[in-house]
Amino acid sequence: MAQRVAIARALAGEPELLIADEPTTALDVSVQAGVLDLLVDLRDQRGMALILVTHDWGVLADACDRAIVMYAGQIVEDAPTRDLIAAPRHPYSAALLESIPAKVDPGAMLPMIGGTVPPPSNWPTSCRFAGRCRFATDDCTHAPIPLTRTDTGVSRCVHVDRLEEKEAADAVTTA
Ligand code: SF4
Repeated sequence: MAQRVAIARALAGEPELLIADEPTTALDVSVQAGVLDLLVDLRDQRGMALILVTHDWGVLADACDRAIVMYAGQIVEDAPTRDLIAAPRHPYSAALLESIPAKVDPGAMLPMIGGTVPPPSNWPTSCRFAGRCRFATDDCTHAPIPLTRTDTGVSRCVHVDRLEEKEAADAVTTA
């Protein structure tokens, strides 16, 4: 109920854009679904733009057309949600998706991304994810990595081809 009151207050001024930061965190699953449905209905009824800030891929998949993944203060991938979930084009997005508990066999270890996010005082000038990336090479550590076009959107990675190769190999393995 408190979440609904907070949403009602935010909407009282009839905004054209609503930014909801972790709007369903700590809610149980059924209440979470109700709050998400409410936000999506209001978005559609009012023609309002909605930005959800979330760590929950389920929330993203249910409510968002477009996904932007951020790491250490930078956008690292931007693509339609469906494409990003099916075929991530940045190693951080891929590692996050591999860590979804529902994707892991019962009893198996949950995959983790080793290391920690560097503090802002220590952000590298080159790829900020390099210290934790399984695809890192020397090419990743010389200069800032720009966002570049991929087949689905944009990615801040110089080795998108390696992700595509892994995706193709995984597809052969599971076929
Ligand atoms: S640029 Fe290199 S280190 Fe950074 S995400 Fe891509 S492969 Fe990994």
